[in-house]
Amino acid sequence: FHITCVPILGFQDKIKGIVLVFHDITELKHLEQMRKDFVANVSHELRTPVTSLKGFAETLLDGAMDDVELRKKFLSIIWKESDRLQNLIQDLLDFTKMEQSNFKLNWQTVNLATIIDDVTTLLETKARKKELKMHVELSGSLEMDGDAERLKQILINLINNALSYTPSGGEVWITGKDVDENIELYVKDTGIGITDDEVPRIFERFYRVDKARSRNSGGTGLGLAIVKHLVEAHKGSIKVTSQKDKGTTFQMIFSKKRKD
Ligand code: ADP
Repeated sequence: FHITCVPILGFQDKIKGIVLVFHDITELKHLEQMRKDFVANVSHELRTPVTSLKGFAETLLDGAMDDVELRKKFLSIIWKESDRLQNLIQDLLDFTKMEQSNFKLNWQTVNLATIIDDVTTLLETKARKKELKMHVELSGSLEMDGDAERLKQILINLINNALSYTPSGGEVWITGKDVDENIELYVKDTGIGITDDEVPRIFERFYRVDKARSRNSGGTGLGLAIVKHLVEAHKGSIKVTSQKDKGTTFQMIFSKKRKD
């Protein structure tokens, strides 16, 4: 609490009473703490791949370069780590842009069917490599007011996660439904699932259920935070249902007509 103290003066400036005002700064402190955590997290997340890049480059220069097998192995690690770094920087830029008050969507009439088609084409190779089946089920008209690029980003993040957190041989469904005034969108997988106590936390920036495994997946821990921001910017809603070792479903509801 911050306390402001004001005396109430009476006849001949005699103090008759005191007004104490308590300012609740819990929220302010909370925001400040979140900002500090964010900076600490960013620094940590950036340092990890850089340390690894430096280490592998150094080992190559120290002689590992002469061994063909080792050279290939280290170079592929270097490639993977720089790829992760690039994703992380992109996510960070997107995320900070979205958090600014002047962030605006580029509203157009978009067809979600086209966007789903673009995104599944983009992620087909990843699905094939992991021997995962992707199914698309669309019904009715999927035209809505929205920002095509941002809706695409929502789907990329969710489908990419579904592919990352589902073991080989599993399945992923992308469903788009026309329901009265709304469009319902589902991304469902038969993957590793998320426990009940972790579900509320997964939309937090940098939150990962299993840091090591998520890092292997090339994730940054910002994907779902970005998704939530973008869904809310569209005045839509997002919900998760999940069962450990069974699978996860993300449900989104968007209004077809823009809401202000
Ligand atoms: P990341 O870049 O680590 O994937 P996200 O913000 O996209 O970060 O997701 C946060 C965490 O939520 C992930 O690290 C993972 O533990 C969990 N998660 C997200 N999507 C799924 C899913 N489809 N199945 C299981 N776990 C998931």
